[in-house]
Amino acid sequence: MSAKTERTFIAVKPDGVQRGLMGEIIKRFEQKGFRLVAMKFLQVCVLMVDQDAVASEDLLKQHYIDLKDRPFYPGLVKYMSSGPVLAMVWEGLNVVKTGRVMLGETNPADSKPGTIRGDFCIEVGRNIIHGSDSVDSANTEISLWFKPEELVSFKSCAQQWIYE
Ligand code: UDP
Ligand code: MG
Repeated sequence: MSAKTERTFIAVKPDGVQRGLMGEIIKRFEQKGFRLVAMKFLQVCVLMVDQDAVASEDLLKQHYIDLKDRPFYPGLVKYMSSGPVLAMVWEGLNVVKTGRVMLGETNPADSKPGTIRGDFCIEVGRNIIHGSDSVDSANTEISLWFKPEELVSFKSCAQQWIYE
């Protein structure tokens, strides 16, 4: 895969969906010049016992596996399954790193205006969007959320006006 076809996994979380920010987020990636490769709208189910998420669906568990021992993990799984999410794959030169810059910091309080988290949210536990943090985790997350046949490759007619 050439550098220009690097891919990242971006998801609008349930709060971003409820707050009507899907279009705004898609717009930012699209206007930047990145190409949409895949998109699906889904709600992940979690088994709850006495207000605790005891067995999240494999997808979410796997997605946040690195954070499973953190104190906020049960709340995070509950939050991520509390409503639909918009899962997407975007493609382009350095899209993983640039995507993270476009998102802002994990804590919206540390995110600059102009970034998605800097512009649209306040608390770390309601930070509206997910973006892969490395090329390796992007590949893992993309294969977790999408089947290979759901990824669409196409040549944008704007390509030569975006890349020199
Ligand atoms: N999170 C949280 N409290 C924290 C840290 C993280 O609720 O103190 C949530 C938040 O939704 C964050 C997600 O866990 O986006 C994943 O954490 P990570 O450190 O991977 O941040 P991200 O990659 O999303 O910026
Ligand atoms: Mg992360």
